[in-house]
Amino acid sequence: MQVLPAPAGTGILFHRTDLGPDALLPARVAYVSQTRRSTSLAGKGVKVVTAEHLLSALYGMGVDNARVELDAPELPILDGSAKPYAEAFLSVGLLEQEVPRDVLVVKEPFVYEDTRSDSCITIEPAAAPSFEVTIDYRSEVVGIQQAGFTAGDNYAREIAPCRTFCFFQEVEFLLKLGLIKGGTLDNALVVDEPKGYLGGKKPYFENELARHKLLDLLGDFCLAGRPIQGKVTAYKPGHRVNTQALKRFLDLYDER
Ligand SMILES: [Zn+2]
Repeated sequence: MQVLPAPAGTGILFHRTDLGPDALLPARVAYVSQTRRSTSLAGKGVKVVTAEHLLSALYGMGVDNARVELDAPELPILDGSAKPYAEAFLSVGLLEQEVPRDVLVVKEPFVYEDTRSDSCITIEPAAAPSFEVTIDYRSEVVGIQQAGFTAGDNYAREIAPCRTFCFFQEVEFLLKLGLIKGGTLDNALVVDEPKGYLGGKKPYFENELARHKLLDLLGDFCLAGRPIQGKVTAYKPGHRVNTQALKRFLDLYDER
């Protein structure tokens, strides 16, 4: 995978180079095809799998325009976080473009509830963008965790390093579904109820799991196609609810 500069107005554009010069797919919520444990996109004959951590790093670090070249459908999972992406962006630097930023300003409060997962996402007007996440898995090890991200916070340091996670009890089920084939203790925290984390792993932050769900939420909201200026509050977020809420919100309020 290569992430390349792109002209203002491009947005985030995937290019599957293995499928030819025209295999392009914009990172937009309209192309979300699968949200089980990850967020995948498909359309125009192009498929992009597990896009959320890269999209999170782009959104969290304020990158509005980039061309992402891939020579296979699935993005690398790396260490289960967005840290390698964030560090790579910092190492090359970001360019301020000569065009005013295209921002979607939230004008009215929006609420999305999902009874299936007991989740709720609200998007409200605010002077500066902010995201807040609460998770509750009824887990003794994890507890109820919260995490927040506001404009000006250091994404690379505070959010990007937070790793993906799962519960030991569900690992067998996920393997049967053909998922997490690349999963190891090097790229995920595994909660082993009620003892702690498998392999004696220690979280980087006491709320690392909530921070990772925030990381995922930012990645999913990158699919709005432009930054949202508003306050986003998510109770029990997940890729399915995040993308469905965003789709509904854009249907109602994105006049572009
Ligand atoms: Zn994730």
